[in-house]
Amino acid sequence: MSPAVIRVQVASVGEVRVRPDNIAGTWRPMLWWTLTSRRWSPWLPVNVVVIQHPRGTVLFDTGQDPASVSDPSYYPPGLLGWVYRRQAAFRSPVGQSLEGALAAAGVPLSEVDTVVLSHLHQDHAGNVAALPEAEILVDATELALLDERSPELHGVLPRHLDRTRLTPVRHASLRGDDLAPFTEGHDLFDDGTLVLLPTPGHSAGSMSLLVRREAVPPLLLVGDVTYDPALLRAGRVPGTGARSLQEETSARINALRQRLPELVVVAAHDPGAASVVAGAVGEDGAHDPDGNG
Ligand SMILES: [Zn+2]
Repeated sequence: MSPAVIRVQVASVGEVRVRPDNIAGTWRPMLWWTLTSRRWSPWLPVNVVVIQHPRGTVLFDTGQDPASVSDPSYYPPGLLGWVYRRQAAFRSPVGQSLEGALAAAGVPLSEVDTVVLSHLHQDHAGNVAALPEAEILVDATELALLDERSPELHGVLPRHLDRTRLTPVRHASLRGDDLAPFTEGHDLFDDGTLVLLPTPGHSAGSMSLLVRREAVPPLLLVGDVTYDPALLRAGRVPGTGARSLQEETSARINALRQRLPELVVVAAHDPGAASVVAGAVGEDGAHDPDGNG
């Protein structure tokens, strides 16, 4: 691995609240809690991660499109749109457009060369249109959801996605890079610092990004594999997605810790993600006196 200097920052591009049964799945089927739940989680961030690598600036996820809050026709009409709104509510605080959030991180939108989408749900893929110059990478299996008769049933809104902009990622053998139990992935710059790994379950083609730098613990940016790294450690998976696949993916990530004992999981809606990535606290939220995560 090259001793490349990589700067990693978390920015919040919108806020979401979901049903408690979504944060950690229970025995209650999704349809049941979607229709009956009267409780919401606290407001949670919609995190994106900016990575400044010598070979280019990479953005992991793009966050919530402010139009999803202001435009009543953003979601599908009728029953389906109602279900979307029952499952998650969004708001777009001032300064949390993608442009505003990245500017606060000192990175102009025009500097983003590559975007990695953890998956195609609108709170992750919502701002692709704001990055007309960037290459947008999506897992090939996830991209195939756009060929389904009703992508909306998978949480994907094709009306807001320009398919011609999306480049499929096809995972291949990781050869000499021992990331078992992960044997396939995609090494973004061929230097081992940024490796995409297939982590399906929340959606058909969800993927995560392993970030390895010199002298600091590796990060695994997992999107919506979990809402909370502590739940992932405990093997609890969110209440939306393919349960057995989610559990398999969680087990793989926990097994990866054998290879990378210091691994720090960064979740898309974890309020602690920014502090964890800044190295101020450990994954469990405990203060790290050494400040090195
Ligand atoms: Zn999400």
